[in-house]
Amino acid sequence: MNRMAGAALLQVKDVVKYFGGLPALNGVSLAVREGEILGIVGPNGSGKSTLINVVSGYHRADKGQIWFEGYDLARLEPHRIAELGVARTYQIPRPFGRMTLLENVAVACMFGARGRRGKDVREQAMGWLEFTGLAQVAASPVSSLTLHQRKMLELARALACRPRLLFVDEVLAGLSAAELEEGIRLLRRVHEMGITVVVVEHIMRAVVSLCHRVVVLHFGQTIAAGPTKEVLRHPEVVAAYLGKEYA
Ligand code: ADP
Ligand code: MG
Repeated sequence: MNRMAGAALLQVKDVVKYFGGLPALNGVSLAVREGEILGIVGPNGSGKSTLINVVSGYHRADKGQIWFEGYDLARLEPHRIAELGVARTYQIPRPFGRMTLLENVAVACMFGARGRRGKDVREQAMGWLEFTGLAQVAASPVSSLTLHQRKMLELARALACRPRLLFVDEVLAGLSAAELEEGIRLLRRVHEMGITVVVVEHIMRAVVSLCHRVVVLHFGQTIAAGPTKEVLRHPEVVAAYLGKEYA
């Protein structure tokens, strides 16, 4: 597979999303290429999570189109979008709190693109828990987890949907240095499974190490896009759009 030069798998065109009269997305356009790891960066409030919410159907776009394999996702229900092979994690984890981890992932296995056939659901779910380092707490209630474990559970649930395109929303935030390296390796392995990955992340170390390209969002618009190092090495982009914590 040529990982750098795939055709567009997802195309977002002029998408607008308002919340109470204010645009969170203000005509955003971008493409995700088949087989790449794309980073989306930008300051807090620039619309990164809203973009994921709109692509996954969690929120409906007010304007614009979102093309995935000939389907305009902007017109589809979230369950249809998941069936087509688009999965996401939530920045604030949203597990079923009273269920065990295994049950949470098993539910996800029953949705999504290719989860219904093949191995037993329980076995599949256990496989994803092993993959994300959660096997030892499979039978625990979600309420007993640390934030890091919750984020890994989000990832396990998203993977259980067998996506072709996966959005991860700040799953590496708040990790120790060692956990961060482990998380980066994990996302790389996800990509090696043939999944196209979009990483929304503040930790530049992770963005630089993982992403072939990055898109910079600012006030709900794409203000820069290109190969990661080219985009991020411009001090003015760093200072003006990402804030001094990145400099
Ligand atoms: P980011 O993920 O880049 O930090 P968000 O997409 O979360 O940014 O937010 C973009 C803007 O939209 C912010 O001003 C935020 O307050 C607003 N916003 C996001 N979600 C909602 C919501 N559900 N209701 C109202 N405003 C929202
Ligand atoms: Mg966000």
